[in-house]
Amino acid sequence: MKKFALAGNPNSGKTTLFNLLTGSTAHVGNWPGVTVDKREGVYKKLSEPVAIIDLPGIYSLSPYTPEEVISRNYILDEKPDCVINIVDATNLERNLYLTTQLMEIDVPVIVALNMIDEVEKAGDSIDAAKLESKIGLPVVKISALKNQGIEELMRRGLEASKHPRKGTTVLEGGKLTHLIGDCKIALEGAGVDNALFHAIKLAEMDELEVKMHPKSAGMVEEFKKTFSDDVFGSDFEAIVADSRYKYIAHNYSSALTKKHKSGKDKMSVSDKIDRVLTHKVWGIPIFLVILFAVFHLTFSENLLWIGAALPEGWVSLPGTAFEGVFGDGGINSPGVIIFNLLDLATSSLSGALGDAMSAAGVADWATGLVVDGIFGGLFAVLSFLPQILLLFLFFSILEDSGYMARVAFILDRIFRKFGLSGRAFMPMIMGFGCSVPAMVNTRTLADENERVATIRVIPFFSCGAKLPILTAIAGGIAQISGLGNADLITYGMYLLGIVVAIVSVLIMRNTTMKGETPPFIMELPSYRTPQFRSLMMLLWDKTKHFIKKAFTIILASTIVIWFISHFSFNWKYLPDENMNDSILAGIGQFIRPLFTPMGFGSQLNDWGWVFVVAAITGLIAKENVIATFGTLAACITSGFVADEALEGVDSVANMISATGIGVPALIAFIAFNMLTIPCFAAVATAKAEMPSKKKFNNTLIFWVVTSYMAASMIYLIGEWWWTAFIWAVLWAAAIVLIVLYNKGKLQNLRLPKLSFKKRS
Ligand code: GDP
Ligand code: MG
Repeated sequence: MKKFALAGNPNSGKTTLFNLLTGSTAHVGNWPGVTVDKREGVYKKLSEPVAIIDLPGIYSLSPYTPEEVISRNYILDEKPDCVINIVDATNLERNLYLTTQLMEIDVPVIVALNMIDEVEKAGDSIDAAKLESKIGLPVVKISALKNQGIEELMRRGLEASKHPRKGTTVLEGGKLTHLIGDCKIALEGAGVDNALFHAIKLAEMDELEVKMHPKSAGMVEEFKKTFSDDVFGSDFEAIVADSRYKYIAHNYSSALTKKHKSGKDKMSVSDKIDRVLTHKVWGIPIFLVILFAVFHLTFSENLLWIGAALPEGWVSLPGTAFEGVFGDGGINSPGVIIFNLLDLATSSLSGALGDAMSAAGVADWATGLVVDGIFGGLFAVLSFLPQILLLFLFFSILEDSGYMARVAFILDRIFRKFGLSGRAFMPMIMGFGCSVPAMVNTRTLADENERVATIRVIPFFSCGAKLPILTAIAGGIAQISGLGNADLITYGMYLLGIVVAIVSVLIMRNTTMKGETPPFIMELPSYRTPQFRSLMMLLWDKTKHFIKKAFTIILASTIVIWFISHFSFNWKYLPDENMNDSILAGIGQFIRPLFTPMGFGSQLNDWGWVFVVAAITGLIAKENVIATFGTLAACITSGFVADEALEGVDSVANMISATGIGVPALIAFIAFNMLTIPCFAAVATAKAEMPSKKKFNNTLIFWVVTSYMAASMIYLIGEWWWTAFIWAVLWAAAIVLIVLYNKGKLQNLRLPKLSFKKRS
């Protein structure tokens, strides 16, 4: 099968085109650096099927970052039959810079002028035929978003792939040409492929290249001495780059006709918006407000803050089937309304099933397993799906509109002080979705220690699977103690994760993970209206993933949990009331003391072990925490509330009254689950992405220690406020030690080395 590679600048629409061509649903993001690995699919609408490869975005073929290396090596080593160079036509000059390098490789290249819809909307026009004759490569105008020009592009691409092509260059005239010519002949003599391309990279003194061809590099070195350009001296990289840009400006730009000749004195709308959103002082508060609005719309039960002013019963609809769905006191947010509607459906379903099973004379334990174990557990988690989706919808809108890229830009200013570049922010934000792709995305970070530090804190950006823990417990707290709104608590916990991440990075970058913070260069993408179709595709993907997980890992876990909570060590069935004699309870009782400093250990009553075992099941998948609550709460219920499968919030409320746990301990419980060792999949990914086994082991320790410390601090301060002073002193001492150490004041201080002697 023929192979076509998509190469282009970040954010030029490669993935959008890839999805369109191959019918896949790869993640499209309105910011650079979303695709870090190459991805393959098949285009079937030509006379023969063609494999399409989506490469990470690159600005040039002189790599600075790992993903640039991936793209360059792919084109040079795998020799695709055609390279589709996707060019953001709204940014023609800058994008063509890469084109002038791609054309130097001996491979057929076709230029796709993407986003032509935006160019035309702005009233500009591009003469593709003229550009084509100047560049000497086929040029096709397309819109990947609006599906325009795609067939022509592929047809001409196929045509181009049939004729082998020799590299050409725009670097002509002058002394430099001699050097390139000489290098090329030398390389050809040595049997090197793509001699022209390599010769030019040598002339640019490209690091990779100098290592590969040391002999020819010597020649360039000699030549350098005879060379003195008046502007750049003998900085060949700059000379070459300058010639490329000059060539583009002289020869290609005439193909573009702008509606407004001088755009300089007029500020674009986008610039005006940016002046506010990326403001030095207001940028961050605006971000925090936007983030709160998102949580408020998803979790609030008092949407307009006018609950108290409403006439009795107006929104709660007492006596109807929809009692409390749209509000109870206050008006519910869209997220809570969908949640309630789903809740209505699932609880009547499991109620009816339970009744039917008992009526049919099914054994007690079987009814228990199905209604409490499976339904209780699964529904506890599934009931949060609507809110998870809604939250993701909001996040995706923020991302696709181009706002998140601005946030990265604002945060770079602060992050830099902590030893992280704004680039690290992208994988972190991805962590709000799922840690696994986020950890993979850290490959865009050039400094290894920065990368390790980032991978370690990614789980602190609470992922979709952790959301049910936050929501259910926040809801439970609100319901039992009447304290705070669920939206505020959830929002607060997200912020807590971010703060812990920043503090951890700060400490790591000043102690064990020192390193340079590379400059962060990111162009801000233009603001765009998010595409309905791509948003829906994303949500559909999430839903599929979630349902699949629910009916595999989570289902299996709830069944296991139900069994070991209803059988004793000598394998006798125990009814709900005797659950405290079960295997699970035994295990929980045994390890409980470890959790005492965090408030959910030995101080709770007989049922207290449920918190410990729930946290442990979370190590497999974080949804399990609430699934376990669901399963167990339905059984504890017998003595407390209704006897039916309980949704997440009710099951937590039930746990609270059954165990006597207090609010500080509940918050500590959320914090512990959020910050501790993430799920199995994330741990495996961290292991694969870490540079060494030792760093991975330290990462596990880091997660355990951080979560334990943060959760204990929350519990202790929440329970006895004056302990805050003790913590403050401890922290101050730690900071002073780190600062002194880094200033070299403590160099004489030798820590006693522990040594273990082998017993003979
Ligand atoms: P990549 O980084 O090159 O893979 O770029 P993406 O495919 O992720 O797209 C970046 C942004 O450009 C997204 O917001 C897309 O919706 C948008 N986009 C892609 N193609 C077009 C197009 O033809 N027209 C317009 N108006 N927007 C596009
Ligand atoms: Mg992409």
